[in-house]
Amino acid sequence: MTPLIDNFGRTHDNLRISVTDRCNIRCFYCMPEENVKFEAREHVLTFEEIERFARVAAGLGVRKLRITGGEPLVRKGLATLIEKLIAVPGIEDLALTTNGVLLAAQAQELYDAGLRRINIHLDTLDRQRFLKITRRDQLDKVLEGIEACRRIGYGPIKINAVAVRNLVEPDIVPLALFGRERGIEIRYIEFMPLDAQGLWERPRVLTADDMIAMLEREIGPLEEIPDRDPRAPATDYRFKDGIGRVGFIASVSRPFCLNCNRIRLTADGHVRYCLFAIEETDVRSLLRGGASDDAIAGAIRACVRGKWIGHEINSTRFVPPPRPMYAIGG
Ligand code: SAM
Ligand code: SF4
Repeated sequence: MTPLIDNFGRTHDNLRISVTDRCNIRCFYCMPEENVKFEAREHVLTFEEIERFARVAAGLGVRKLRITGGEPLVRKGLATLIEKLIAVPGIEDLALTTNGVLLAAQAQELYDAGLRRINIHLDTLDRQRFLKITRRDQLDKVLEGIEACRRIGYGPIKINAVAVRNLVEPDIVPLALFGRERGIEIRYIEFMPLDAQGLWERPRVLTADDMIAMLEREIGPLEEIPDRDPRAPATDYRFKDGIGRVGFIASVSRPFCLNCNRIRLTADGHVRYCLFAIEETDVRSLLRGGASDDAIAGAIRACVRGKWIGHEINSTRFVPPPRPMYAIGG
């Protein structure tokens, strides 16, 4: 079996699977406030189709999976899918990204299905700002979800916080303190041009350097963690006092495309070689049209072969992808 290597020598062993484009909140940097255009339900891959795709991908060297969406916990029976995916030969690691709203109710079932690694999306501990960002008043639910995961014994638990300038500056330090008290890593993600309403502009990106300066000023010195996996998107730091760590996904100010090892499967069955890709490969029609595993493998290989060197957010040539974040799978 030849691994999934692109024309720039990057090996792809990491697959992000979106299980739905639906969501129970409406973060402004991802979804429109109203009239969201969801995929027709019959276009969304079934669990059997997702599992088959994962098996084929594992046969091509994929070892790590992440379940995402939309909001994956709105998909009924998610624990069943997780159990099936963990059992796919070759899969060594499975993680979930969720907004946490439904987590308190589902955390035990997901843990029992074998899930251990979880990223919970939380930008602020302030109820008003949470409402402003997500257009829903659900902060308490997310906090309950985080506590449920700690009680049950998930690990590592990470928090994803999207960093938008002129909005979340008051949240950077409180989130880090929240994480330090609980042994949770906060991952600050620079605002990327993936929102549904074309609101992104460069001056609205709160950069990793800005956030590091804030954290060092208010909490204490940080040091980069050595020997980290060079292909991981986050640059991780620990506080020099030994309490807690933070990470930065600095896609805009420090692009990491040259180390990318990820492909994505959208909820409606398209393979993408990049979050920002313009083109994508339809595998739903193969999965539903009687295609062989070899034909599906061939489609995945062709997609990876066509991968570009990287996004061009920092150039005038940049064109935002036709799908917003919720329809791609973050
Ligand atoms: N609903 C789940 C959630 O919110 O975690 C999973 C899907 S969501 C699209 C995945 C991640 O994308 C979120 O955790 C959020 O941090 C991130 N995200 C969404 N829109 C973004 C944007 N425009 N820029 C940067 N990160 C974004
Ligand atoms: Fe939903 Fe996640 Fe998008 Fe927020 S970022 S609207 S929680 S899919």
